[in-house]
Amino acid sequence: MKKKSYSLVDKDKALRNMLASNSLGDFFGVTKETLDLVWSYLTSPSGNSVTYVSMEIGADLDVYNPVKRHLLSLGVTGSTNPKLAYHAKRFLFGPEKIPNYSGGLGVLAGDSLKSFADCKIPVAAISLLYRKGYFSQLVDSKIGQINWSSEWRPEETATLYLLKDPQEPDIPLEIEIPFFELSDKVVMAYARIWINMEINDNMDFFVPEILLDYGTPSSPEWIRNAAQQLYDSSSEKAKALQRRLLGAGVLPAMNALGITSRTIHLNEQHGVSLVLHMIAERLKEQLGDDYQMLASEADISAAAAIVAKHLVYTIHTPVKAGHDLFNRNIYKEIGHSFCQRILLQLADDQDNPASFNFTNLAMRVNRATNSVSRLHKEVTKRQFPQYAQKITAITNGVHHPTWISDAKAEVYDSFPELENWRQDPSVFANAELLLHNKKFRTYLEEAWATDNHILIRYINQMLINHRSQKLTTWIDPPNFLSHLDDEQGMLYPGAFTIGFARRFSTYKRADLIFEDIDALTGIINEFQQPVNFVYAGKAHPSDEPGKALIKLILDCQVELYEKSHGLAKLIFIPGYDMSIAKMMVAGVHAWLNSPKRPLEASGTSGMKAAMNAIPNISIIDGWWAEGYNDGLTGWKFGYELPVDDINALSEHPNTLLYAEDSISFYKVFKEILATFINPDLRSNYIDKCIRNISINCPRFSTHRMVAEYALRYDLELPPSVERKLEKFRSLYQSEI
Ligand SMILES: *Cc1c(COP(=O)(O)O)cnc(C)c1O
Repeated sequence: MKKKSYSLVDKDKALRNMLASNSLGDFFGVTKETLDLVWSYLTSPSGNSVTYVSMEIGADLDVYNPVKRHLLSLGVTGSTNPKLAYHAKRFLFGPEKIPNYSGGLGVLAGDSLKSFADCKIPVAAISLLYRKGYFSQLVDSKIGQINWSSEWRPEETATLYLLKDPQEPDIPLEIEIPFFELSDKVVMAYARIWINMEINDNMDFFVPEILLDYGTPSSPEWIRNAAQQLYDSSSEKAKALQRRLLGAGVLPAMNALGITSRTIHLNEQHGVSLVLHMIAERLKEQLGDDYQMLASEADISAAAAIVAKHLVYTIHTPVKAGHDLFNRNIYKEIGHSFCQRILLQLADDQDNPASFNFTNLAMRVNRATNSVSRLHKEVTKRQFPQYAQKITAITNGVHHPTWISDAKAEVYDSFPELENWRQDPSVFANAELLLHNKKFRTYLEEAWATDNHILIRYINQMLINHRSQKLTTWIDPPNFLSHLDDEQGMLYPGAFTIGFARRFSTYKRADLIFEDIDALTGIINEFQQPVNFVYAGKAHPSDEPGKALIKLILDCQVELYEKSHGLAKLIFIPGYDMSIAKMMVAGVHAWLNSPKRPLEASGTSGMKAAMNAIPNISIIDGWWAEGYNDGLTGWKFGYELPVDDINALSEHPNTLLYAEDSISFYKVFKEILATFINPDLRSNYIDKCIRNISINCPRFSTHRMVAEYALRYDLELPPSVERKLEKFRSLYQSEI
């Protein structure tokens, strides 16, 4: 894009237009008109909007920040107006990490909200603000993962605003959230409200993320502590309480801000205790103040049926650890006795009679249950046969403007066939017309080389940093290469590089391809070409088997290196986050995914690779069952275990099929290496890259996904918006 130059007067005028205020405070990045428009949708008496409830939201500013991009294109560096200077400075130089996510679920939430904003669908999100974010990961070669906690400063983060009390503009808005303890004593919790604005690329629409901050001095200490760190699992009570803080805060937050959404979307069941409050509200309307004494079992069921009409629920995993099961006694300490009555009726679990099952509650009380891929739909129906009727599939997606690297974006920008790809992912289908275009193929290969260089340079710098950290800290560098001398202890760009990064949990089988190192290095030695394996990911601090997998990966490094005579280098990058993800999915040559089928409900990192024209090598599971396209876009391996196999859902080590699936990988790996390395076959590799753009980019964008969700939302949208959504839906239907 050409750089225009703007006069100081122009710049100041543009900046002034980007500052908007209402009774809740000042907001930067949208006009007053846009601020009022979005707010009028969200507070309209018609309820024509959606409230999206999620335990985590991942939307770091270092991977996507359209307001900063706009400031840079204007050439703004500051302002003489102190207020404008304050905001411009935060956007240009402020912190860019918002560590309110742990992994795929949160990143999906962030990507979805960005697409809602792009498509102008009126949505407000509700989540918690975690003062200590999620844990940060250090890695030591002898210990493995070390959990570290780091503070972040929401006050300094550009897109975050602490709301003012409209009645008393000098103090922050603080809402009351009634809580109950043992013997039904009312305890008040208090939360301040932050808004993180997800502003779209045109800066003419946004989605506010309402983040409840229980860390205010008015809240009792036990409540404050429970909301400090995302997925705190120091005790079962802390875990249950954190979920309850999310659910209990939804209605008070909506009331305080006047948000009227008639549809609430639960992104996973974490916030489902909201349902208890909605049912209680109904019963109170119907039976009066004594509803707790008067309500019969039938009254509760009838109220639940009415509440269900307002709820859409997305279930994200068939894996047990993803479902909340809490001992009934714990809930006695954090819930009213009437809540417990509702739970006894709606959250029972026949296999675990001493617990409440919150997935069961969420399954029961909703008007639409969505699984996150076609295969996951089949699995979910098997797990919950009694609700099979209402279980549908909306396959996940990724926000393509977030995940496409700068170098790839430049290529896509250079071809008129792909014009407007940021707004309209359907144009990616035109990449088919470019399949034999020499210039396109060359540009694409060059961009790929650029992205690979960026990744390799980052890794080499990291190896050097770790080497010197050995002298200043007690941490032993996680990578064996940090112990070699400079020349040997680095990676070289251009060498075939496989990427693998995601949460470490046993069913994802991070170590699968290292099952037989002799077989793996045998292939590499045959080709006599260097191969890099780049790994990253965190294990939840209380997931011991997950942490053991990280250690196992570290322990493979030396053997792999030695048996391949230095050709195979296995790297672990600590502290996986969105910016590392973005660098990896664009900078590798193939993206590996090796879960046990059918336990990976969708997976999204492979889609991010696809957006960057990178082929996947994957088990036919989750989204890849839909994205594989008979090999046009990558490779498959592994045993296609039927979903009704007796061991299909088992995570027991004996049922994880390591032997079968690793052998299958080695077979396909040989073919992949040949295709990449052999000049006669290389063009097949590039064909696969381009097919990812033409086939997978349109389908697996969150634009298509939110268009499908909009059908479940009962919204009346302006015709221009409806037309656009109709177009995105025509690209792909998850339901077949
Ligand atoms: C995309 C992403 C994930 C999710 O990866 P999966 O393939 O779905 O497991 C996790 N963490 C981060 C930081 C991501 O960007």
